[in-house]
Amino acid sequence: HPSVVPHYIFKDFYDLEPAKFQNKTNGITPRRWLLLCNPGLADVIAERIGEDYLKDLSQLKKLLDYVDNEAFIRDVAKIKQENKLKFAAYLEKHYQVQINPDSMFDVQVKRIHEYKRQLLNCLHIITLYNRIRMEPNKSFVPRTVMIGGKAAPGYHMAKMIIKLITSVGEVVNNDPIVGDRLKVIYLENYKVSLAEAVIPASDLSQQISTAGTEASGTGNMKFMLNGALTIGTMDGANVEMAEEAGEENFFIFGMRVEDVEAMDKKG
Ligand SMILES: *Cc1c(COP(=O)(O)O)cnc(C)c1O
Repeated sequence: HPSVVPHYIFKDFYDLEPAKFQNKTNGITPRRWLLLCNPGLADVIAERIGEDYLKDLSQLKKLLDYVDNEAFIRDVAKIKQENKLKFAAYLEKHYQVQINPDSMFDVQVKRIHEYKRQLLNCLHIITLYNRIRMEPNKSFVPRTVMIGGKAAPGYHMAKMIIKLITSVGEVVNNDPIVGDRLKVIYLENYKVSLAEAVIPASDLSQQISTAGTEASGTGNMKFMLNGALTIGTMDGANVEMAEEAGEENFFIFGMRVEDVEAMDKKG
């Protein structure tokens, strides 16, 4: 994205005054997106490496000493399970929806947009549904797919995508063959307070925008800071996140920016 702005959008301006262009990838505050929304995890980390990491996140690297530490792994897993129970109770209270806190929480929360590809996530739900229907006796990891976000008032296609997701949910959630192995929840009225509740409870973070379209993303960072694994494309800040975490710790898939451009050129 930083190369898109000077070389395409403001090309003439850039050719005249290149020094006037520079890029800062944006970010999130660990005070809100860890300490405030997930005090349990913040404590488990502070017990090992002290509290200074909240003002200097690079200090999280000190946790590398604990990657194989069973007590640390147990503590982190326990906090995640507590957060999942708490979010299940929150959903029941505020949305009158019941979910299975022992299922994998697979979450995509962000504004609804074609480039963010909630539609791709929806096709994946249909694929999982068909797999269960085809081999109903096979064992599947129970999964609760949650998708949330608002559409801009005039964005017709975004509203149709919401309609599709809720309609797919109606079929999946009421199929007795599927049972509690797959549930689809639409998180209405997605906002910061809902983000602070769902992100600490998430197992899987969906960051699947078409490569070359997301300038940075910040939702991706919030999930990672709360111990969710990411499935995502090489787009926006996912690129730097995969680099920092190591690609072996990141579920990367799909076309790279160059592949998308080559496909666009071919038409
Ligand atoms: C962080 C946040 C966003 C941005 O999410 P992206 O995944 O980066 O698009 C949008 N809405 C809310 C309420 C947020 O907290």
